Amino acid sequence: MSIPPRIGFIGLGIMGRAMALNLHKAGYQLTVYNRTRQRTAEFADLGCDVAATPRALAKACGLVITMVSDPAAMDAVLEGPEGVLGALSGGSALINMSTVSPSYTAALSKKCWTAGAAFLDCPVSGSKPAAEAGKLVVLAAGDKAAVEKYSPVLKAMGRAVIYAGPAPAGTALKLCVNLIVAQLTTALAESAALAEAQGISPDLIFQTLRENPALNCGYFDLKKENILKKDYPPAFPLKHMLKDARFMLGEAAAKRLELPVTAAAAALMEKADRSGYGDKDLSVILDNLTEPLAR
Ligand code: NAP
Repeated sequence: MSIPPRIGFIGLGIMGRAMALNLHKAGYQLTVYNRTRQRTAEFADLGCDVAATPRALAKACGLVITMVSDPAAMDAVLEGPEGVLGALSGGSALINMSTVSPSYTAALSKKCWTAGAAFLDCPVSGSKPAAEAGKLVVLAAGDKAAVEKYSPVLKAMGRAVIYAGPAPAGTALKLCVNLIVAQLTTALAESAALAEAQGISPDLIFQTLRENPALNCGYFDLKKENILKKDYPPAFPLKHMLKDARFMLGEAAAKRLELPVTAAAAALMEKADRSGYGDKDLSVILDNLTEPLAR
């Protein structure tokens, strides 16, 4: 079975734009859809087709990839008369790369199965720079043969494909990995706030981390400028990590597992969201920690 000649890509936000551009660069024929049509203009300039609706995109493409915000955005592009699901047929495939909940993923897998289409649960690890460089880590779940079949497509966007098992194992793994990202970000912000409170430069923290091989983590470098300049251009918007933290806590509660540190990180993110920081990079939680000191 060969990969369909035309790929439909839905969601041209921070991540999706870069991922779709990499598919185009790899030579795949693309049809794109984005709710805000303006974001499709650069793809039209590159010679890609632009679909008026998700349904029209799915009609034109044997493989549909979704990279949108959350379950509500997924429903908006999948369900209803103009949605993807009504246009899926036997032999077509849907790969979801957005981060949603495991229960949403499991239900979507069933809907695709009912439609006779293959479904791959493929969220990604890595932020805007990795998406731009085509170096995401794809956390793939679903039928193993289907993951193997579509791995050339996944590898056009990522450096590695980790097979997690049947869906929703990719989503489950994504939540485990993002738990660490949430806590690393909280640790950096609290450490910088403590440095500031003691009258030392937070840059000294980054210098120390860099010189200690056990603590020299690329993620710290990614967030360094944000922390030092207190400027938070979105690479990973806070609202998306908050969504993921709610999924983590929901999954844990359902399994009677406590995640006390994740709960504390989520509370910090809830506060930042209430402060109107949802669209900024998640490292913005530093502002809530240092604001009381400034008063
Ligand atoms: P983003 O920049 O906020 O883009 C979100 C995309 O979803 C946009 O294309 C947006 O369309 C679309 N969308 C939102 N609501 C919609 C609706 N109701 N109907 C139709 N389309 C809708 O987000 P992102 O950073 O690319 O993240 C996308 C997904 O990847 C999220 O699930 C996120 O958690 C996950 N992720 C993000 C990162 C990261 O570092 N940024 C890393 C790994 C995974 P418009 O253009 O019309 O708003």
